[in-house]
Amino acid sequence: VSIADLTKEAFDRVEKLDGDVEAFLALNKEKATATAAELDQVPFEERGPLFGLPIGVKDNIVTEGLETTCASKILEGFNPIYDATVVKKLRAAGMVTIGKLNMDEFAMGSSNENSAYKTTKNPWSLDRVPGGSSGASAAAVAAGEVPFSLGSDTGGSIRQPAAYCGVVGMKPTYGRVSRSGLVAFASSLDQIGPITRNVEDNALLLETISGVDPMDSTSANVEVPNFAAALTGDIKGLRIAVPKEYLGEGVGEAARASVMEALKVLESLGATWEEVSLPHSKYALATYYILSSSEASSNLSRFDGIRYGFRAENVENLMDLYKETRAQGFGNEVKRRIMLGTYSLSAGTYDAYYKKAQQVRTLIKEDYDKVLADYDVIIGPTAPTPAFKIGEIVEDPLTMYANDILTIPINLAGVPAISIPCGFEDGMPLGLQIIGNYFDESTIYRVAHAYE
Ligand code: GLN
Repeated sequence: VSIADLTKEAFDRVEKLDGDVEAFLALNKEKATATAAELDQVPFEERGPLFGLPIGVKDNIVTEGLETTCASKILEGFNPIYDATVVKKLRAAGMVTIGKLNMDEFAMGSSNENSAYKTTKNPWSLDRVPGGSSGASAAAVAAGEVPFSLGSDTGGSIRQPAAYCGVVGMKPTYGRVSRSGLVAFASSLDQIGPITRNVEDNALLLETISGVDPMDSTSANVEVPNFAAALTGDIKGLRIAVPKEYLGEGVGEAARASVMEALKVLESLGATWEEVSLPHSKYALATYYILSSSEASSNLSRFDGIRYGFRAENVENLMDLYKETRAQGFGNEVKRRIMLGTYSLSAGTYDAYYKKAQQVRTLIKEDYDKVLADYDVIIGPTAPTPAFKIGEIVEDPLTMYANDILTIPINLAGVPAISIPCGFEDGMPLGLQIIGNYFDESTIYRVAHAYE
C-alpha cells in the first residue's frame, strides 16, 4: 500500500467518525497529501518503523502554516511560522500529520469542556467526556481516526484521557522531550508525550520525539534508548511499590480492584510488590494549583492582542486593547488560573503561597526519590473513577481538580509515568498507572508490555 493511500484512508476515517467524536480542530489535508506523495519516493530500505503512518497533534504544539489555537479564542487565526521540534522529528521519521486535536483551553482542564470551540466526546460512550486536557488526542486514537497522537501533560493531561479512552499514554521524564514549540502552560511541569493503541507503538513514538534540543535549555542531554528493545516480556525479580495513598480515600472501588488484579498478573510473571507511603501526597493538589497557575500567569502574559491571533476592536488606547483582548479572548478557567497565579506571586503573598509551594514540591519529589531508590516502579490507578458524563461536574472546579489527584504528584517530581488500559467500570475503561525512575521509561515500557 502506498503512503498516499494510507493518508487518504486516514482522512476518510476522520470524515466518517469525527462528526460524532469531534476531536479535530483543523485538518492538514493539502500539505499531508503532498507530503505523502514525497514519502512514496523514498526507497524501502531507508524507511523506519513509523514511516508513512498518520498522526494527530494536540493543538498547543505549533505547526507551520497550520492554525494553532490551544483551543482558545485568543489564538483564533494564528498560523505559526515554524514547526515545534517534535513536529520536525515526526516529519524526519516519515510520519504524516493529519491535523490538530482539540483540548481544554491552554491545557487547563480535565474533560475537554474548557475548549472554546467544542467538546470532544468519549468514543466508548458519546455522552461522556474523553478526559483532558489532551482528551481529543486520546479520543481520536480510541475511535481509530488515527493510530498515533501527541498530547501534553502538565498534571495528568496525557494519562487521565488515555485512561478514560482505554488507550496507552506516556508522560516522559521532564527534559526527555523538547518543549520548543509547545505553547507553555507551566514550564517546569509541561512535557509532550505519545498516545497510542498499544505499548510497542508508544515506545517507538517516544523514541522518535525524544532527545536534547538546543532550542530548549531544559531538554536533557541524556542518551535516547531504543525503548522497544525493552519489551522482552521478562519482569522476573521486578520490585513494585504500591503507595497506600493511591488506594485510599476518594479512589473508587473498581479502580482499586483493577489495580489489585493487575498486581496478581504481575506477580504471576515473577514480580513482587509491597505497600509503601508517599506521605506528602495530600499536599500535591494545592501545591500544583499554586505553582502551575503562577507559571501560567507569567506565560500567558504574552497574549496581548499585539503579537498573535485575536485582537479586540473598538478600543480607546493601548491599555484598553490589552484589557479587552484578554477579557474577550480568554475563557473562564484560564482567567481563574491567571488570577490565582498573579495573587500567589504578588509581593504580599509570595512567601505564604508561591515560596511555600516550592518547598512542598521538594518534599513531594523526595518522597518519590526515596521509594524509587528501593523499587523499580510504583503502581496505582491513573484516575479515581472512569470518565464522567458531559456537564456533570463542569460547574464545580474543585471536584474537577480532584480528578488529577493521582497524576499531579508525578509532574511535581518530574518522573515518567504511563497509563495503560486495566479493566472496566460500567462499560467504561479504567487505567493502570506505572511510574518509573528519572529517564527510565524503558522499565515502565517493559512492565506495561508484560502486563498488556
Ligand atoms: N487537569 C489539570 C489542570 O487542569 C492538568 C492539566 C494538564 O496536565 N495540562 O491543570
